Amino acid sequence: MSTKTLDAYEVKLDLGTFMNSSPWQKLLNNEHTKRAMEVSIAGMHSIAVIGSSDLKRLVIDAYNDLFERVCKEKKEKVEAPIKLNFYSPCPCGYFGDSFRECTCTPAQIIKHRSKVNLWRFDILVEATSRLNFNKLYLGEAPEAVAKRISSKATYTTFRISSDSAALLDMAVNKLFLSQYQLESTLKVARTIADLEDSEIIKAHHISEAIQYKNISIR
Ligand SMILES: [Zn+2]
Repeated sequence: MSTKTLDAYEVKLDLGTFMNSSPWQKLLNNEHTKRAMEVSIAGMHSIAVIGSSDLKRLVIDAYNDLFERVCKEKKEKVEAPIKLNFYSPCPCGYFGDSFRECTCTPAQIIKHRSKVNLWRFDILVEATSRLNFNKLYLGEAPEAVAKRISSKATYTTFRISSDSAALLDMAVNKLFLSQYQLESTLKVARTIADLEDSEIIKAHHISEAIQYKNISIR
């Protein structure tokens, strides 16, 4: 994902091929969500996806699809696999949706969100159900993603570059990150650097990890 642009995966979608493709590829126009799932599985980080309820099954299936492929690739059976948590942004499910109107009152939304403490998750991401039929891409094949995860590096050091430290400092102040969230951000950034086989945690690793703490739905 990080080395190729989305356009590289753009294909003219053949509906027959699409219907027979894996759950991972059926999750269209959600490269950002898929990348978050990749990082979650690579580092066993807890993950919550927020999206309208019609996406729930697809998102969970895509996650399990990738997880099974990684286990197969590593030839190991994981006893207690991490599971993806899916939440709708509000009771009706359409808050923040670009073309369906949310019918909830602010009080209902606050009540809905106070039930779930989203900030305990290492990775938070919003999924989109928006389809642009002029520009559909199946995205990267799940086999390639599973291979990248199973062959990733496993550095245990937390050496970070100086610009990364500045970025973290900014995030702590702007996003009011707690100590727990800061540690979680660093662990996620470690995994992202591992996926690139980089011993040093660089600024773009940190900034991706911060993105997973900074969703618009709060
Ligand atoms: Zn709503």
